[in-house]
Amino acid sequence: MIYKGIAASEGIVMGKVFLYTKEKVQIERDTIHKGTTTVEMEKFNDALILTKEQLSNIRKKASNELDEDQAEVFDAHMMILTDPVFLEDIKKLIEEERINAAYAAEKTVNKFIDIFQNIEDDYLKDRRIDIKDVGERLIRNILGISVDSLQSLNEKVVIVAHDLTPSDTSLLDKSCVLGIATSIGGKTSHTAIMARSLEIPAVLGLGNILEKVKNDDFVILDGIEGELIIDPDENQMRVYSSKLKGYTEKRNRLQRFIDLPAVTLDGKKVGLNANIGTPEELTAVISNGGEGIGLYRTEFLYMDRTDFPDEENQFLSYKEVAEGLKGKPAIIRTLDIGGDKNIPYLNLPDEMNPFLGWRAIRICLDRPDIFRTQLRAILRASAFGKVRIMYPMISAVDEVRSANLILSEVKQELADEGINFDKDIEVGIMVETPGAAITADIIIPEVDFFSIGTNDLCQYTLAVDRINEKVSHLYQPFHPGILRLIKNVIDVSHRYGKTTGICGEIAGDPLASMILIGLGIDELSMSPSAMPTIKRIIRNVSYEQSKKVAQHALMLSETEEIINYAKESARDFLSKED
Ligand code: PEP
Ligand code: MG
Repeated sequence: MIYKGIAASEGIVMGKVFLYTKEKVQIERDTIHKGTTTVEMEKFNDALILTKEQLSNIRKKASNELDEDQAEVFDAHMMILTDPVFLEDIKKLIEEERINAAYAAEKTVNKFIDIFQNIEDDYLKDRRIDIKDVGERLIRNILGISVDSLQSLNEKVVIVAHDLTPSDTSLLDKSCVLGIATSIGGKTSHTAIMARSLEIPAVLGLGNILEKVKNDDFVILDGIEGELIIDPDENQMRVYSSKLKGYTEKRNRLQRFIDLPAVTLDGKKVGLNANIGTPEELTAVISNGGEGIGLYRTEFLYMDRTDFPDEENQFLSYKEVAEGLKGKPAIIRTLDIGGDKNIPYLNLPDEMNPFLGWRAIRICLDRPDIFRTQLRAILRASAFGKVRIMYPMISAVDEVRSANLILSEVKQELADEGINFDKDIEVGIMVETPGAAITADIIIPEVDFFSIGTNDLCQYTLAVDRINEKVSHLYQPFHPGILRLIKNVIDVSHRYGKTTGICGEIAGDPLASMILIGLGIDELSMSPSAMPTIKRIIRNVSYEQSKKVAQHALMLSETEEIINYAKESARDFLSKED
C-alpha cells in the first residue's frame, strides 16, 4: 500500500519499521492480594535492574557522541534510581498498601515531581524533568513496554513517528537510521531541515500513518516523491530498486562539481555555503565543496540538556567550527529558540501562537544574561577563524540597535580582560519577517550583511504555519509577494555596497536557482547534500540569462505560473545529464 506525504529529504531506502511513540502509558490502579505482593515486588526489582542497565549503556554511548555536560543528564537519572527515599516509597506502596508496581511507581514519581516543582531554586526545580524522564522509563519497564529510544537503536531502521522534535533528531544515531516518516510536519519544519542536514531520507505529513504501520513491517521510503510503501509487492520492489539505482548514479555524477568554482557561464560568482546545526556536520560541508557556513543554528547546542551551556562549552563548539573551516567564513546565528524549538529548562510559557511569540532575539534582549554569554563565546571563537555574527527574527531596527549595543559592551568587556577577538567582526541579521524585509533600507546602515530566511519569511508573509501539513499547499516560497520582498532586500543591500545571502530552504531548491541568481543574490546557503546540484546549475546558466528569467518571473501574478515558468527556464539544464 502506498501512502503519500511531503518529500522532505531526498533519497530512497528500504527496511524495517521502528515505531517511535512517546504517548504516555495509561496505568490502572489494581489492589493486589496479600499473597501476591512478592510478584509485584519482583516486577519492580527486575525493572529497576533493567532500567539501570539501559541507562548505563546510553551513558556510555552518549559520552562518545555528546559533550560531557549532556552525558551527565544520564548520571542524574541514575542517581534518582539509587535514591533510598524514592525506592522506599515505591516499595512501601506495594507492600503495605498492596498497590500494583506500575501504579506505585507512577504515584511516587508524581509525588517527587510535585516536591521539586515547589522548590524555589531554579536548578533544583528543573530536576523534575529528570524525575519524569527516568520515571517513565521505569514504569514502561515494569509494564514490559518497549523503551527503546532513538539513542539506543541497534539495527538499521526506518523510524515512523507522529513527530520528531528537533531535540529527538539531534540525538539520532545516524548510522542506524535509514529514513524518517512522520504524521505531521512540512518541508521547512526543523525535522525536515535536520533530516536533510544528516542526509537521512524523510517523508513527513503522512497523516494517520501510525494506524497503518506496525513495528518491524517492511517498507520502502521514497524521499524524492514523498511516498511510504508498506509491505511492497515484487513489482514495487523492482521499480523502486531501479529508481534507487538511478538516484545513486545521479548523485555520483554530481561529485565532479565538488571542486569546481561556483561561477556562472559569464563569470558571476555566487557564494555556496552550508547550513549546519552542530560542528560534526562540518565533514559533510567540506566533502560537498562548501565555501563556508552561511548559517550555524546554535540552538541545537542548547537542546537535550538540563541547563544552559556555559561560555566555555559554547566557545569550544564555535571554535571547532571556526578552526575546522580553515579560514573560510562561518556565520554563527545567535540563539533562535522558541517556535518549534523548545528547551525545557527555559520554562517557555505555553503560548497560543509560539511562532509569533517569545522567541529568538526577543528572548535574548529580555534575558541579556543568556545573550551576553553567547556573544562572549562567539567573539572568543572569532580569534580562531573567520566568524560573522547574525541575529535571528529581527522585526524592527530598534532590536538591531539594542543587540548591537549589548555586543559593543561585551566587546569592551573582553578587551578589558585582555581576551583576543576579531575587533572588526561582521554583524548581520536574518531577514525573515515582512517588517524587516520592507524596512531593509532603515536597517542596512546598522549591519554588514543580510541573510534572508525564507522559511520564516514565507510563513509570516503568507500567514501560513510552516509545520502544519494541512496548510502546506498554501506555503509558497514562489509567491509573487516573497519574490518582491527578496528583490527589495537584495537591491537595498547592493545600494549600500553590502551583500545579501539566502539561508532558507529555497536556496537549495534547483527550481529557484535561476530566479535567485537573476535577482542578484550574493550567497546561497543550504544543507550540504544540496550543494553539488545547485553548483551544477550555477555553472550551467549565465547571469544575463538569469536576470531576464527573474524579471519575467516578477511580472507573473500567480505562484503556479511562476513555478511553471521556472521549470520551463530550467528545463534544459535540469534534464541534461552532463
Ligand atoms: C529561515 O527561517 O529561513 C531560517 C533559515 O531559519 P530557521 O529555519 O532556523 O527558522
Ligand atoms: Mg527562521
